[in-house]
Amino acid sequence: MNERTTLKAADNGHLIIGGCDALELAKEFGTPLYVFDEAYIRAMMRVYKKTIESRYGGNGNVLYASKAFSCEAVYRIAQQENIGCDAVSGGELYTALKAGFNPANIYVHGNNKLFYELEEAVDAGVGGIVLDSISEAEVLDGICRAKSKTQDVLIRINPGVEAHTHAFVQTARTDSKFGFSISDGSALEIINGVLALKNIRLKGFHCHIGSQIFEKQSFVLAADKMMDFIKHVKDETGFVASVLNMGGGFGIYYTDDDPKLKEEDYATYLTALIDGIKGKAKELNLPEPYLLIEPGRSIVGESGITLYTVGTIKDIPGIKKYVAVDGGMFEAPRYALYQSKYCAAKADDVNAPCTQVVSIAGKCCESGDLVAADVRLPEVKKGDILVVFSTGAYHYSMASNYNRNFVPAAVLVKDGKADIIVKRQNYEDLVRNDVIPERLK
Ligand SMILES: *Cc1c(COP(=O)(O)O)cnc(C)c1O
Repeated sequence: MNERTTLKAADNGHLIIGGCDALELAKEFGTPLYVFDEAYIRAMMRVYKKTIESRYGGNGNVLYASKAFSCEAVYRIAQQENIGCDAVSGGELYTALKAGFNPANIYVHGNNKLFYELEEAVDAGVGGIVLDSISEAEVLDGICRAKSKTQDVLIRINPGVEAHTHAFVQTARTDSKFGFSISDGSALEIINGVLALKNIRLKGFHCHIGSQIFEKQSFVLAADKMMDFIKHVKDETGFVASVLNMGGGFGIYYTDDDPKLKEEDYATYLTALIDGIKGKAKELNLPEPYLLIEPGRSIVGESGITLYTVGTIKDIPGIKKYVAVDGGMFEAPRYALYQSKYCAAKADDVNAPCTQVVSIAGKCCESGDLVAADVRLPEVKKGDILVVFSTGAYHYSMASNYNRNFVPAAVLVKDGKADIIVKRQNYEDLVRNDVIPERLK
């Protein structure tokens, strides 16, 4: 684990998170249980916000990428920290609004936003809609005309930089389903199309080069390309972008394959990005754009852990050992989706020396249903509480009811207090929308 003041081992070896003993949390709320450390979430929101203030004169904002973990409490925290958020669906927008989020600080994304999602965004008065096709721009313009409103928009651009964890590639043309390519002229074409529409107001551009990125240069290169692009658009059309949204993608620690970053390291990433933009603005004689960034994983990822109870242990001698837990791909889908790696420990003795390598299996009827493969653990037995680290992002938000399992509860911990922020589902929740038609009765 990436130890810190709010995530550490107590003298008796128990895992402490946000001042709460993990074993007590498991006892009180049951397992599987998502636990979120509020202090960490706030600290990460603050480090980005403060860096924009101190290094860029406050000329920008942080938008929490809510797809990483969306629930009312997390929007409340973001709002209290004075940052914005993005929403990628009507559901995320609805949740943010229900939590009382200021719509002016919400940006709406998506490569195929539905008609009603666009309408709802306009009705809510969101700060920006990030366009991803000319047909969408036309539909949105029509919606705004009908409602006598003008909506600020950005256009999603592909800078031709794709980053994957420790490496990045520059491509002439990306094959992404998102955005418009700078290199083939398609970006300029949609800009001209959008500028011709009367009920939407183009403010600038957005890009998002990938996720789980540790390579500082990839952010700087993307910023360079976006600034060059802003200059190119100015020369070709006279339009000067006043907003630049550089997306998210800062990486986090899952295993020793990843660097262990501290808060100040994230400030360093953002500072490099900001310095790149400032330098380019000077070089190209452009105004410094209002900067938006959209970190998701780096805000909530390491704030979260999942607690499990060990069930069946199956040792296939010389081949593999499975430690089955009461969760699985329904609540931890990233192994099944991407073969993601994790660290785990015994919650009653987090620093116990690891003596074995096991696969942590889920309880679903799929052989690929692992929470994590090849995890180093001490000896464990049925009934032990296991903790898997760095599960705050893309776990709860990607959970399902596969095999009619319950989506677990989430609790928020701070200074020794634990509060439910998402209730555990129950059997009634599972059948709530089931209908038996008359002819089957
Ligand atoms: C996923 C996504 C993000 C957040 O990415 P992280 O890697 O979680 O920081 C930000 N912006 C857009 C457009 C995204 O699709």
